[in-house]
Amino acid sequence: MIEPLRGRKRTHTCGDLRAEHAGERVRLMGWAHRVRDHGGVLFLDLRDRYGITQVVFRPEKISPPVLEKARAIGSEYVVLIEGAAKPRPPGSENAELRTGAMEVEADQLAILNQSKTPPFPLDDGATASEDLRLRYRYLDLRRDVLKQNLIFRHRMTRSVREYLSDQGFLEIETPLLVKPTPEGARDYVVPARLHPGKFYALPQSPQLYKQILMVSGFDRYFQIARCLRDEDLRADRQPEFTQIDLEMSFVTEDDVFDVVEGTLQSIFRRDLDRDLETPFPRISYEESMARFGSDKPDLRIPFEIRDVTEIAGASAFEVFRAAKKDAPKTGTLALPVPGLGTASRREIDNFEATAKQAGAGGLAWARVKGGALDGGVAKHFPGDLTAKLLEATGARDGDLLLLCSGPRPLAQRVLGLLRTQIGNAAFKLDSREFRFAWVHRFPLFEWLEAHAAWGPAHHIFTMPLEEDLPYIETDPGRVKAQLYDLAANGNELASGSIRIHRKDIQESVMRTIGMKAEEAQEKFGFLLEAFEYGAPPHGGIALGLDRLVVLFNGGESIRDAIAFPKTASATSLMDGAPAPIDPKDLKELKLRIQD
Ligand code: ASP
Repeated sequence: MIEPLRGRKRTHTCGDLRAEHAGERVRLMGWAHRVRDHGGVLFLDLRDRYGITQVVFRPEKISPPVLEKARAIGSEYVVLIEGAAKPRPPGSENAELRTGAMEVEADQLAILNQSKTPPFPLDDGATASEDLRLRYRYLDLRRDVLKQNLIFRHRMTRSVREYLSDQGFLEIETPLLVKPTPEGARDYVVPARLHPGKFYALPQSPQLYKQILMVSGFDRYFQIARCLRDEDLRADRQPEFTQIDLEMSFVTEDDVFDVVEGTLQSIFRRDLDRDLETPFPRISYEESMARFGSDKPDLRIPFEIRDVTEIAGASAFEVFRAAKKDAPKTGTLALPVPGLGTASRREIDNFEATAKQAGAGGLAWARVKGGALDGGVAKHFPGDLTAKLLEATGARDGDLLLLCSGPRPLAQRVLGLLRTQIGNAAFKLDSREFRFAWVHRFPLFEWLEAHAAWGPAHHIFTMPLEEDLPYIETDPGRVKAQLYDLAANGNELASGSIRIHRKDIQESVMRTIGMKAEEAQEKFGFLLEAFEYGAPPHGGIALGLDRLVVLFNGGESIRDAIAFPKTASATSLMDGAPAPIDPKDLKELKLRIQD
């Protein structure tokens, strides 16, 4: 029953036929998307990457053997049909298909292959569990949503390549077998057979190599780079993901911002068919935390955090008074939520539960009604203080005020979390509206409570702001870095920095985080050595490609943008990775598995 191709070629794809093809004899090949028997007349929706074409088998017009074969076509069979392209009878056109005005009246049919019944329906909106779909990923990829994501990903990647090439960037590959990198996450390692006991690491990013390419004088580098990080289970992370990785010489952060804005603009123009306004707003880390309680703010959410430490501290509420005493280390912050005065006690209790889970002692609240406060902490605010509070927060009748006191970073984080949660649940945020923002001037160091020591906030090659250079060792906490992130709609899309190219600054940073010269030598001596041969001032950034695809093209997780993703526990359900290896291979690698 299965027939060979016999050199036959397609005249059209399943997405091609339009009114102008009426009367042509055509040959199509594809998968049997759906077969319907309408009282003897057989309809076949034939599908390929390009679309779906309706094929009709009319018993009165075809030979009995062809009809018999047609009746045997099962779901996802691979078939070849020949016949006449015709306009569909008036009234039976399908406006949802690009080929919907046409059908093919088939008189020839070859079944090129059969198919088992797929374990889940391939129509869109598949209700099958993700595990089942990952197990049969090749079938899942036949679904239109995933297919469109991968097509978009290809087009977007091509736009990036072309734009950056036009800007003088060179695409240069860096090694996959590298020396373990100092970027924070755990390395995936590969045993070196020729050097028993030694290991390569798979790169967490091309960071060190791209910096060395600047020392070599390449000036502008990019790479669509695979990055591998052996991180613990975290929602919506993948052990391997792709970055648009850039590095540039003789630049300040403005130059890096320009290139990234230009790249995104070209994606918008070419692949999304719309304009993108640049430059993006720039927000310091400090401001971002103060206004949004997050370093990846969602600017679509129409309310911000306000500082009401002074006003609330003058109320009769003891918690607010205490927060004022230790200001500015502590404070009282307010989140005025427009229109949420209708929230029930139960909803407010849920907000408080979120706050407590995030570490807050509690969450104070009041509704705004008739120009006054109502419920919650209202009783602690006399009239004049209420007026001040309303003015400072911009809250109006019908709004809900949420107030959080405590150490400032904690209160920011808590209200930032509630802002995102409420913003997403109660406001119609448009997923097609993209609000980009640069968040920059992050602290250079972060205090690692567990180690009672300073650690690098990004990586140790990040350059401090010029004006903070004198404080690297004397007051690390105040040192800001030339470190920046690109955020959009609550996502972190990119992260990068201007790098340290001077040995004295590098050594000073390493002393601050307590890294011994030997340790630095051992970990990335090769970079430090390269820096001794005329390293130019340089900087760069990396954009998460998978995340960009999901953001621009819809989809829930970055798995939807990756052809063969892994599960949250880093397994591949389709091919069964990871898997044990042959004891013989272990022996050759001089490795023994411990119980
Ligand atoms: N390598 C950095 C990262 O993966 C990006 C950069 O600083 O360019 O986050």
